[in-house]
Amino acid sequence: MSGTLLEVEDLRVAYGKVEAVKGVSFTVEEGQVVTLIGTNGAGKTTTLHTLSGLLTPTSGSSRFDGRDLTGLPAHTVVALGLAHSPEGRHVFPRLTVEENLLLGAFLRKDAGGVARDVERSYDLFPRLRERRGQAAGTLSGGEQQMLAMARALMCRPKLLMLDEPSMGLSPIMMKKIMATVAELKASGTTILLVEQNARAALALADRAYVMETGRIVLSGSGADLLHDESVRKAYLGVE
Ligand code: ATP
Repeated sequence: MSGTLLEVEDLRVAYGKVEAVKGVSFTVEEGQVVTLIGTNGAGKTTTLHTLSGLLTPTSGSSRFDGRDLTGLPAHTVVALGLAHSPEGRHVFPRLTVEENLLLGAFLRKDAGGVARDVERSYDLFPRLRERRGQAAGTLSGGEQQMLAMARALMCRPKLLMLDEPSMGLSPIMMKKIMATVAELKASGTTILLVEQNARAALALADRAYVMETGRIVLSGSGADLLHDESVRKAYLGVE
């Protein structure tokens, strides 16, 4: 049965005196792809970092799978099933591809299941199989992005948060990454996607929220926002 997996209510987050997230509310239903799009500095990454337990909100609440996330440390949030593939990838450069994947499963005790999921990662990203023994720091940007996504999946998350997976990638690599997000969606993975490429994100999203200067200014289905005139002008480059 599907239900609400993540419920964010009136979340506020500040860096010192500067409020970056100013009362944001949204929900993610099980099995959905939900996207946050918006201008640079709108507070999207800050929102994901707060949900992950890397930042503490000044007020508001977020409930994940029935649990209040407020004040929980990042490792507890991961253990609850909320995984984060961060902006800028952050793979461990000196470790091999496979070692990076195994670190993504560090909380799991089912060695057989972990080994199967390493193979599943390689099925999802055959490029990583070819490079399993290579130091992650020597991978291309697109390959590092694949690794960051695969690593986040290794904890078998209930919700996968992807922060700008297509950032800095060539058009072909970007297509590949977004096709993989579509594949994950088709297999039932629930995803919260922050993406600069609004067109690709909206095309995939069941639900979308537009953020501007710390607030959600518009929401709707991905298809609705793809056809919204203000969104088309501001984010899709349509005159
Ligand atoms: P982008 O698409 O450019 O990544 P974003 O929507 O993810 O933008 P955030 O990275 O969340 O935006 O930034 C929101 C605001 O908070 C910005 O004004 C940014 O300058 C500020 N900010 C982010 N990180 C910090 C920090 N560590 N210290 C102070 N201010 C910060």
